[in-house]
Amino acid sequence: MALLDTDRELTRDSYYVHSAPAWAPSPPLQGEVDCDVAVVGAGLAGLSAALELASRGLSVTVLEAQHVGFGASGRNGGQAIHGLACDMSVIEAQLGRDDARRVFDMSIEALDLMRQRIAAHAIDCEWQDGFLSVATSPRKAQALAGWAQHMAVAYGYPMTVAARDGVRRWIDSPRYHGVVHDPRSGHLHPLKYTQGLARAALAAGVRLHEATPVTALEQGPTVTLRTPQGRVRARQVLLAGNVYLQGLVPALAPRIMPVGTYIVCTEPLERDLWASLIPSLSAVCDTDVVLDYFRPTADQRMLYGGRCSYSTATPRDMAGSLRQRMVATFPQLAGARLSHAWGGFVDITMNRAPDFGRLPPPSPGHAANVYYLQGFSGHGLALTGLAGQMVAQAMTGDASRFDVFARLRHRTFPGGALLRMPALVLGMAWYRLRDLLG
Ligand SMILES: Cc1cc2nc3c(=O)[nH]c(=O)nc-3n(C[C@H](O)[C@H](O)[C@H](O)COP(=O)(O)OP(=O)(O)OC[C@H]3O[C@@H](n4cnc5c(N)ncnc54)[C@H](O)[C@@H]3O)c2cc1C
Repeated sequence: MALLDTDRELTRDSYYVHSAPAWAPSPPLQGEVDCDVAVVGAGLAGLSAALELASRGLSVTVLEAQHVGFGASGRNGGQAIHGLACDMSVIEAQLGRDDARRVFDMSIEALDLMRQRIAAHAIDCEWQDGFLSVATSPRKAQALAGWAQHMAVAYGYPMTVAARDGVRRWIDSPRYHGVVHDPRSGHLHPLKYTQGLARAALAAGVRLHEATPVTALEQGPTVTLRTPQGRVRARQVLLAGNVYLQGLVPALAPRIMPVGTYIVCTEPLERDLWASLIPSLSAVCDTDVVLDYFRPTADQRMLYGGRCSYSTATPRDMAGSLRQRMVATFPQLAGARLSHAWGGFVDITMNRAPDFGRLPPPSPGHAANVYYLQGFSGHGLALTGLAGQMVAQAMTGDASRFDVFARLRHRTFPGGALLRMPALVLGMAWYRLRDLLG
């Protein structure tokens, strides 16, 4: 089954779709539009850039193949976390200590930007402070505590560490051997947030067309985007299409790999039980490579994510196996019933660092005017916002922050279009074995 078909099926039973207010879609593009900037994709990356550009007085058109928040932005785990998907050592190795520190600081700025936007645009999206990293073995607990100490010393980012005896104070589970608490990260309802950002962009003057897939891109001093019933000509373009962009720009596709990840949630729990599981109400993520991530929701459910798939097929009995993992973590939930099960695809890069840049211009004399943001590698809820703001800054004359990220080098996945997945499956089987061995 093609990625998009699986993906449509995967979002049908999403808790977020069922709990967000109904969305009034904007009409598809019909006819011709000229604008300063055209944005492909109405996820958090595209919407953030559009909002920022329109606030700076530019005319902006956003083209979305499906609807606002259809992709990862509207269906993720809701965890807005410091840092990147990769360890900071990956960034240090490429950019050096000082710029790695700048990148980390920007990831914290991304969290602050999210809070600011929620307040400034009065977005009702259930923000809750707090994030716990948890370790599933004594060896991993030691590594986690060492990492927290390193982040305090080298990155000036202190967090609270709890070892074996103190773990249960943070999470009432028999599974964990160590905990690190970060009060600045947190969690929210991602579809409500994405819709709120879209409303803010519309209010700032952004022109949005949903059900409008971009089918061709023609580069030049003015870029042309073609859609089934229209075309947009823009001075500059942002591609923020995540894994769904696929063939539109063949050079970008092999730099990311779509990996499926899945989530279930319970029916509302009895209040005392719900409040006792994670007393700080933080989001939680373990440090395994094939990780579990979960959080309590504002309406007293447990929302539990994990597993992964390297083909476009949804794993068999996805909900049943996630339920098993949830009950292994919280035996108290053995009697809880699941209400929803869904999933989506994350855009991972080889080194799990984000992939931001510009397409080379078609001829040497022209400026590079097509930007892209991709490869958030499952850690984009907060960073997409800042990335969109940085693209807007770059498009309006200050590329200094965008270029720190654009300097990161990325390799394409080996094996070409057909063999990329088998190569990754082999690699991940090795990591999964390491997770099991503790
Ligand atoms: C199940 C799941 C759980 C996750 N959990 C977390 C988490 O807890 N914390 C975290 O930080 N991150 C998480 N992530 C990752 C995070 O959601 C993403 O990094 C982020 O939302 C990416 O935003 P985006 O705007 O780049 O892409 P998307 O939100 O996917 O938006 C891209 C949009 O572009 C549109 N598009 C693509 N091609 C075209 C085209 N040719 N024409 C027009 N439109 C097009 C698509 O329809 C789509 O709406 C998770 C992801 C998934 C799937």
